[in-house]
Amino acid sequence: TWGRVCNELEKSVGQNNFSTWIAPLEPIELAGGIASFEAPTKFMRDWVSRNFADPILRELRRAGVTAERVEISVPARRSAPAPAQRPAQAAPAPAAAKSRKSARPDSEPLPGAPLDARFTFDTFVVGKPNELAHAAAKRVGEGGPVTFNPLFLYGGVGLGKTHLMHAIAHELQQLRPDLRVLYLSAEQFMYRFVQALRDKQIMDFKEMFRSIDVLMVDDVQFIAGKDSTQEEFFHTFNALVDQGKQIVISADRAPGEIKDLEERIKSRLSCGLVVDLHPTDYELRLGILQTKTENYRAEYPDLQIAPGVLEFIAHRITSNVRILEGALTRLFAYASLIGREITMDLAQECLKDQLRQSERKVTVEEIQRKVAEHYNVRLSDLVGPKRLRAIARPRQVAMFLAKSLTTRSLPDIGRRFGGRDHTTIMHGIRKIEELRATDSQLAEDIELLRRLLES
Ligand code: ADP
Ligand code: MG
Repeated sequence: TWGRVCNELEKSVGQNNFSTWIAPLEPIELAGGIASFEAPTKFMRDWVSRNFADPILRELRRAGVTAERVEISVPARRSAPAPAQRPAQAAPAPAAAKSRKSARPDSEPLPGAPLDARFTFDTFVVGKPNELAHAAAKRVGEGGPVTFNPLFLYGGVGLGKTHLMHAIAHELQQLRPDLRVLYLSAEQFMYRFVQALRDKQIMDFKEMFRSIDVLMVDDVQFIAGKDSTQEEFFHTFNALVDQGKQIVISADRAPGEIKDLEERIKSRLSCGLVVDLHPTDYELRLGILQTKTENYRAEYPDLQIAPGVLEFIAHRITSNVRILEGALTRLFAYASLIGREITMDLAQECLKDQLRQSERKVTVEEIQRKVAEHYNVRLSDLVGPKRLRAIARPRQVAMFLAKSLTTRSLPDIGRRFGGRDHTTIMHGIRKIEELRATDSQLAEDIELLRRLLES
C-alpha cells in the first residue's frame, strides 16, 4: 500500500516536496493506530512531522489504512549522540502543573494553556524595537510589587508578544512558585466561560479566576464583539486589579484601536503601561538569526555557514520573526539533507519563494491608487491641488502610508504628490498620526489599507 499511497502523495504535495521529504521516509510499522516512519536525519524528522504528517495521514486513510497518527523517528544509532538540548520536545510544562507543586497544594489546578519551553527570557533577543516591551515584561517576571497594571503589550503578528508572556510565566515559576500564574488566550477564556455557563458552573469559574495572582490573556482582540465574554472579562479584570493582582494583556493593536470593544474596557486596558513591539529592524533580525544559529550549532556541530549568509537573510526577509525563523529552519533542513555547507547560492536557491515574496515593494503610486479607491476619490484629485476636506484627508492618509511603507524621502514623496513641498508632506503625516490616536475609524482604514498593500 505504501507504494500506492506514495503515488497519491506525490500528486497532492507536489513532486518536489515529495522527492525531497517523503520519498526518503522508511515505513516501519502500523500498530495501535500509529503509522511509524523513519527519517534519515533529525531535521527531516522535524520538518516532515511539522509539514507533512497531515497529508500522509490523509492519503493513508484514503487508501483504507486506519491510522490515527503519524510518527516519525530517526534510527536509534543516529540519534544516539544527540545532546539533551531540545527543550522544545520536552513536554511543555503547563502553568497548571507547576502551580500544583506550589505552596497551595490543595488548590485546584489552573486551566491555563501549556507554555512553550523555548519561550524564555534567555532565548528572547532584545533590540531597539522591543526593548521597552522586554524591560516591562522582565519587571513583571520578577514578581515584585505591582507597579503598572495591566501591562498591555501590542504589535503585529510574530513580533514576540506570546514569547514574552510565556517568558514571564517561566520566570515567575522560578522566582515565585508561591504565586498562582495563569496564561491563556482570550479565545480560551471565552471557551471556558461558555463552558461554565453551559455546565452551570459559573460560580466556580468566577472563583477560580479571582484566585489568580498573575493573569495573562493573549490576543485580547479576539473578544471584541463578543458581548457576554467581554462583560465577564471586565469583571474578572476589575476584581483582580482591585485585589492588587498583576494582569498582562496582549493584542494586535493599541487598546483604543480595537474595534467592537467596550469603551470602559478600552479605558481600563489603557490605564497601566501600554507598550508596543515595533517591526523588527536589521540589527534585531541579524541578532535573532545569529542566536538561533548558535542554538542549532549546539545540536548539530557539523553545521557550516558561509560568511554573509545570515546578513543576507536579515536584509532580505523583513516581515516578522516567525517567517524569519521559518526561513532559517528551512535552510538548515535543506543543508542537512544534502550535507553541504550553507553558501549564499544555496541560501538563494533554498529560500527563493520567501525571497520573492519579500521582494514585493510597495510603490507610492500603488498606495495612491488604493487610497483613492478606498475613499472613492479620483486619483487625479488625490495628487491634485483641491483642498476640500473630502479629498485632503485621503491625501494625507496616502502621504502617511507612503512614508511608512516605502523608503522614499519626504521631498521624494512630495514630488509624487503633484510637486508638493516636503513640509506639506510632513504636516500631512503629523496630522494623521495625531488623528489616528483618537479616531478609530481612521485607524481602522489605515490598518486595512496597510494590509491590502502589504499582502
Ligand atoms: P506574536 O505572539 O507577537 O505573534 P510570537 O511570540 O509567537 O509572536 O513570536 C513568533 C516567533 O518568533 C516565536 O517563535 C518567537 O520565539 C520568535 N521571536 C519573536 N521575537 C523574538 C525575539 N526578539 N527573539 C527571539 N525570538 C523571537
Ligand atoms: Mg501570539
